[in-house]
Amino acid sequence: MTSTRAYASQSATTPLGPHTIERREPGPHDVKIDILYCGVCHSDLHMARGEWHGAKFPCVPGHEIVGTVVAVGSHVREFQPGDRVGVGCMVDSCGECESCKAGNEQYCYAGNTGTYNSHDKHLGGHTFGGYSASITVDEGFVLNIPDNLPLDAAAPLLCAGITLYSPLKHWHAGPGKKVGIIGLGGLGHMGVKIARALGAHVVMLTTSPEKAADAQKLGAHEVILSTDAAQMKAAEKTFDLLMNTVSASHDLNAYTRLLNFDGAHVLLGIPPTPYPPLDVGRMIGNRLTVAASTIGGIRETQEMLDFCAAHHIVSDIETIRMDQVNDAYERMLKGDVKYRFVIDMATLKGA
Ligand code: NAP
Ligand code: ZN
Repeated sequence: MTSTRAYASQSATTPLGPHTIERREPGPHDVKIDILYCGVCHSDLHMARGEWHGAKFPCVPGHEIVGTVVAVGSHVREFQPGDRVGVGCMVDSCGECESCKAGNEQYCYAGNTGTYNSHDKHLGGHTFGGYSASITVDEGFVLNIPDNLPLDAAAPLLCAGITLYSPLKHWHAGPGKKVGIIGLGGLGHMGVKIARALGAHVVMLTTSPEKAADAQKLGAHEVILSTDAAQMKAAEKTFDLLMNTVSASHDLNAYTRLLNFDGAHVLLGIPPTPYPPLDVGRMIGNRLTVAASTIGGIRETQEMLDFCAAHHIVSDIETIRMDQVNDAYERMLKGDVKYRFVIDMATLKGA
């Protein structure tokens, strides 16, 4: 085991601060990675502040991890020291159930092992995420970062990118489809870029009027201010697909109403409190789907990274120091992030 520098919250009510964790030595199938950058996902905030049931402390968040391979186990063939690699939201799964066999490890019947706050089957206790100097991960959960993607701006692809790519592909976003992205934050801005690259007609639905110009620069064909009743009324029954990335509970019916016959409203946000009831009558009358989705499988995550490389898609980032993460959380809550914070892990030493 190696003592490793990290940043953790010690309870739901304490800010994150310096902390030391243990990382295992690489086993035969493990890859040891020096972490260079880690994205800041709203899920990190939900977990570090104990907003979700089952949060464990100390909590070391971070599941948008990129870095360099520094050691590999004896059986590892796909990776070698010096490789540019990434790790997303999961680090293991059972490997044997129908989901895992189909490459959908995120839907493992036994539950996937989250990069943080899951049971650590190697060391006991719980897993620690990417707000740390290094991580040791089973080779089956390590991704290749294509050469033409800058590491810092590629980090958010590992969670925000795949969380949008997977459902956009599953629900056939593409030419002839009108796709709404709800919420312009980390997930939402990746949704705009990816849906646009897939060939869909992309509409940004935001509560923030000042983000309209950015939404268009990111690739949205249209912007709807979702707090404007007239704009929402005019958009009723015009959408094929909605990707909802909002981090707080809200009235889903206001958006479901925008769907045309057979449309789908896909929930991606994980608010700490329940949503108000669905207007099922409206859904029945138009054979609508309200669905939900989480990240993507490992094969699909590599496919997404290669797709982003081919289409020159990365995240729009603001790089921060490790000791700025608590401020970054506050800014994220105010919607003041353009459009993803990424921690420069070299700053962990001085933090
Ligand atoms: P984020 O950067 O904070 O963006 C969330 C956006 O939602 C905000 O920028 C804001 O956009 C909008 N919003 C916030 N509060 C709102 C409210 N009360 N009503 C309407 N809109 C509101 O967060 P993120 O990192 O993209 O994550 C979003 C959510 O997805 C979080 O709950 C996170 O835990 C979850 N998540 C899920 C998965 C998954 O696998 N399904 C993966 C990653 C994250 P506007 O200003 O444009 O309105
Ligand atoms: Zn995330």
